Amino acid sequence: MIDNMETCPKCKCDACYTFNINETKKSYHCFGCGYYTTDLLVEGEYDKETYEETYPELHKDLMYVDEDKRCWYPQTINHENGTVFMNGPNKENAVWSAIRKTELTEEEKQMPRYKNQTHKSDAKTLKSFDKDFIEALDYIGFFDNVK
Ligand SMILES: [Zn+2]
Repeated sequence: MIDNMETCPKCKCDACYTFNINETKKSYHCFGCGYYTTDLLVEGEYDKETYEETYPELHKDLMYVDEDKRCWYPQTINHENGTVFMNGPNKENAVWSAIRKTELTEEEKQMPRYKNQTHKSDAKTLKSFDKDFIEALDYIGFFDNVK
């Protein structure tokens, strides 16, 4: 599943997962800093406004430009066991947070709001991990099925 691990152009850790999106452009998903970018997200060369349309203000504020002018954003990981996302009142106090999913009870499965779903986010499990993205992923069991 892991194609390629490289040195992260943003945080310089060696756990930046990359893959080609076409012959010359790559996509970068870093396990160290938790940010992602692509070679298409170059400052001044993409339609930032449209791209960021669905992004929370916090993510826009945290956008980071690397030395090659690529724009990095915090990743949001939606996994079958939970979600990892950047959370906080402002960029100075932003932390990685994780919330686990639990299986729906038979009763809940009958409710219209959970139609066709088997799991729900469990608010009680919300936990913050400061800057530690890996810890947050581990908490939701992200690595459990990786062989
Ligand atoms: Zn990184």
